[in-house]
Amino acid sequence: MTTRRNELNFSGGPGALPATVLEQTQRAIEALPETGLSVLGMSHRSEWFLALVDEASRNLRNLLGLSEDYEIAFMQGGSSLQFATIPMNFAGLPFAPPQYVSSGYWSRRATAEAQRVYQCGVAWDGAHSHHSELPELAKLDIDPRAAYLHYVSNETVEGLQFGAQEAPSNVALIADMSSDFLSGTVDTDRYSMIYAHAQKNLGPSGVTVVLVKRALLERIPDGLPAILDYRTHITHHSNYNTPPVFAIYVLTLVSRWLRDDIGGLRAMGAINERKAAMIYGTLETLGDAVRIHAKAPWRSRMNVAFSFGDEQLDRDFVEFAGERQMTGLEGHRSIGGIRASLYNAVTEQATASLCETIRDFAAKRL
Ligand SMILES: *Cc1c(COP(=O)(O)O)cnc(C)c1O
Repeated sequence: MTTRRNELNFSGGPGALPATVLEQTQRAIEALPETGLSVLGMSHRSEWFLALVDEASRNLRNLLGLSEDYEIAFMQGGSSLQFATIPMNFAGLPFAPPQYVSSGYWSRRATAEAQRVYQCGVAWDGAHSHHSELPELAKLDIDPRAAYLHYVSNETVEGLQFGAQEAPSNVALIADMSSDFLSGTVDTDRYSMIYAHAQKNLGPSGVTVVLVKRALLERIPDGLPAILDYRTHITHHSNYNTPPVFAIYVLTLVSRWLRDDIGGLRAMGAINERKAAMIYGTLETLGDAVRIHAKAPWRSRMNVAFSFGDEQLDRDFVEFAGERQMTGLEGHRSIGGIRASLYNAVTEQATASLCETIRDFAAKRL
């Protein structure tokens, strides 16, 4: 098998990683510059790892402008574990049922999982539009006694993104930002909790970042299994049991890349805006020959879900792009079609190549 080009990876996740991060990771598997040992054999009790966790937290805090009111934890179990632990920790009496925005595949999964723990309300359901649009959060009618309002900031499968918008101010807000975390600036003060696994924008799978307001931690009932209690991870500085050392290492490299090579989240956001404009612009020139899943105001800058309106044509496109070394373009198994994911590490140049490929395919086949 010939080596494929990592920079042409448009996968929905695990996603592309910056070339410089892959190079440093390769060297670190041989020997870390700081310790001379392979990163894969580094003890989680070593000074090196304790300093690494500190740096990762500090870099995230600085990138996001996160205030000291928030704790940061690095956890395992992916975002799916968060779906279950959030209601265990933060719902229940004296609060009214937590409310969930059901806007697509991942928020449906989050809601279903929370329902197994507590009765939850659905604050809005996008099923009527086949999940092609999103609500205005501030206009939702939420019981102020609700434990929290949960939503998914970017629906990875359908390619829908909330973007910056007003949020309801009368209820604790919790967001799954797994697929758009660190893709641009975010007004973190609005949230009681933000979580995001690493494998879309921040690193390999295995670690999930949790930002949680101290005030929310006071709600946690006693008696939860220690590993499911957020306080355990915070008190032990994300080192309660063996953490995913390798994943946290790569995440730290990505945070340095964002800070030093990209220049922060404002710059990253501008790059992502340009990439998205390029690809939606290209698709729009094809008129009726292409169907973009998300309606215009809600189109994601991270995941572009579209179809040529015919399964065979969609498969042919994926194959056509594959001949040009492009990978990861198949749509999610739940909706089919094509999905181009433009995570942080996908460059403007790679995006331009994809646009050219779409134009060439259209000229040949449509
Ligand atoms: C991919 C994805 C998930 C699933 O996360 P796991 O780490 O596989 O559990 C959850 N939420 C969103 C928004 C996702 O994109």
